[in-house]
Amino acid sequence: MKINLVSDTVTKPTPAMLSAMMAAEVGDDVFNEDPTVNALQAKAANMFGKEAALFCPSGTMTNQIAIKCHTQPLDEVICDHFSHIYQYEVGGYAYNSGVAINLIAGTNGKINASQVEAAIKPVQDWLPRTRLVVLENTANKGGGSIYTLDEVRPIRQLCLERGLALHLDGARLFNAIVETGESTLDWGAEFDSISICLSKGLGAPVGSLLIGNQDFIKQARRVRKVMGGGMRQAGYLAAAGIFALENHVERLRDDNHRAKVLGETLRQQNWVADVRPVQTNIVIFDLVPPLTAEVFLKKLEGMGVLATAFGPATVRFVTHLDFTEEMLGRVVEVLESLAF
Ligand SMILES: *Cc1c(COP(=O)(O)O)cnc(C)c1O
Repeated sequence: MKINLVSDTVTKPTPAMLSAMMAAEVGDDVFNEDPTVNALQAKAANMFGKEAALFCPSGTMTNQIAIKCHTQPLDEVICDHFSHIYQYEVGGYAYNSGVAINLIAGTNGKINASQVEAAIKPVQDWLPRTRLVVLENTANKGGGSIYTLDEVRPIRQLCLERGLALHLDGARLFNAIVETGESTLDWGAEFDSISICLSKGLGAPVGSLLIGNQDFIKQARRVRKVMGGGMRQAGYLAAAGIFALENHVERLRDDNHRAKVLGETLRQQNWVADVRPVQTNIVIFDLVPPLTAEVFLKKLEGMGVLATAFGPATVRFVTHLDFTEEMLGRVVEVLESLAF
């Protein structure tokens, strides 16, 4: 059996999660009549101290809906150049919302208030109107790096002063806050909208949540519908989400710890040039030339370990619910045995 470190999206529902799904009470969610979807949405809203939430098929959809609801065509979104909304959502900000993007070259996928302030455009007929700032926690392409609330608050303050909305792409927010000990309520207080993924480290098969105030979610529901994201008996999927939020948050510490062990092992290998700081469940590292990601990954696969390239000589490992302590031992053994 192959050990899969390609992504934390490769997990399959556990038997206990599957039982919860099978037992779900369902209804037609387009008519707001699925009790399990309603329960998941209420649970998520409460966790973050917000009024409402919306269950969606993917994190791409929750982010895209958020951009659409916060902006008008000819507006502009500020974010780090590594952001998922820029890198991996098919340019949807332009397609769905008709907005421009203003990229900041931050540090490990993170930006600060003075960078945001410098990026805000003056009001001129010939300039896009800066309207929205998007932060990503953890920052995926930044190596799973963590924003703390102390880093977020000055950005929030600036957004309030300048009339900008603030959205959090919190696909892996829980990987961050199990490390910092910060609370979901405190995170909820700093943002106009928050997206969280249930299908990453939390181990649900499908689904993300968009969280915000009542008016925002009302509009988001209409946008979800026009994107084709109105689902019917989605309670079977929502039940997995409830199970994940109740049972799979604390254990993210294990994933984060296992990633650190991988990072330390890699740092000791003479074919590794650099390992980004490992803060959560993502390990990004560069190979010593002339070794390429392609050659390295082929060799690794031959030894039963799958991972993914993040550049010509850069590789990403992601730990997750289906990556056990025993598998960690095996991967460490494999890495220590490799020679190039
Ligand atoms: C995975 C991910 C998303 C959403 O991806 P989907 O595959 O559409 O669910 C959004 N942001 C970040 C940072 C992600 O890693």
